[in-house]
Amino acid sequence: MNVLVTGACGYIGSHAVRCLLKAGHRPIALDNLSRGHHESLPAGVPFVKLDIRDTDALADALKQHSIECVMHFAAFAYVGESVEQPLVYYDNNTRGTLSLLQALDRVGVRRLVFSSTCATYGEPETMPIHEQTAQQPINPYGWSKLFSERMLFDYAASKPTFAFAALRYFNVAGCSADGAIGEDHHPETHLIPVILQTKLGLREKVTIFGEDYPTDDGTCVRDYIHVEDLVEAHVQVAAVLEPGAKLVYNLGIGRGYSVKQIVEVARSVIGEFRVDSGPRRPGDPPKLYADASKIERDVGWVAQRTDIRAMIESAWRWFEHHPRGYAARGA
Ligand code: UDP
Repeated sequence: MNVLVTGACGYIGSHAVRCLLKAGHRPIALDNLSRGHHESLPAGVPFVKLDIRDTDALADALKQHSIECVMHFAAFAYVGESVEQPLVYYDNNTRGTLSLLQALDRVGVRRLVFSSTCATYGEPETMPIHEQTAQQPINPYGWSKLFSERMLFDYAASKPTFAFAALRYFNVAGCSADGAIGEDHHPETHLIPVILQTKLGLREKVTIFGEDYPTDDGTCVRDYIHVEDLVEAHVQVAAVLEPGAKLVYNLGIGRGYSVKQIVEVARSVIGEFRVDSGPRRPGDPPKLYADASKIERDVGWVAQRTDIRAMIESAWRWFEHHPRGYAARGA
């Protein structure tokens, strides 16, 4: 299958490209390179440098590469930034998705796998989070994705031949098993990369954002899913997208780890690093973890790489050898 991967040079998109190749598909990589890294693409994969908001150029690319399915990862994903610059998020994420749908409609591409997020749920009172849990985002990032989901449902309702799956990610972690590609965000704000960068001396310390949450050890609990499991779910879901499908699945491992637990496991992998206590980070719900059983029942996907230690080890393999991210390549 010819699959267009938007945001193909980002952390998750680049892992998806490799997963598609492995599964025998033909990925076509698209990125505007505003935050992505061209170096993350394997040699020989066709690359289209394009902003998805350029609907005409996007439609041309869909035609030119005879695209049969799109995996849509292109988006900004910093909660804090979305609070400071909401319009940038609605423009890039929501308008970007609208433009993509317009191009798909024009060309007649009928399959879309959409990168959504548990941030669309906001702060649910009960755990685990099911797909039916009410979606009440608490930041513009979550809203920008929820509006996109809404557009998918409305468009699909008007177009019976169209099929989509919205996959709601929990905390994505880890890097490719062979250490070839990884995570390179600027700035980096995610817990596991922050820990690894601290160990590498790129940061002075890890600050735990709040130790007074209503959880067992007072720190926030999250559901960490390995990026390679996550992208495999996309490939498996794409294979079952029949006309009219409107699928929504959580992607997590179904259990949570606290910030302190992550720090302890990381210490057992990489040794000591400095940790400090800080105030809560605004917008952080105390506990988020998924019920991801629906995708297992429907599609047969189940996370394989659930060992948190191995997840951190796989991330460390990348960070240790790329302390400056992709900039270190060939340096
Ligand atoms: N966190 C922390 N210190 C950091 C970065 C993150 O204590 O330097 C906490 C954060 O408050 C959250 C958890 O680690 O409870 C995971 O945060 P991350 O930014 O990795 O992902 P998020 O859950 O925000 O998507």
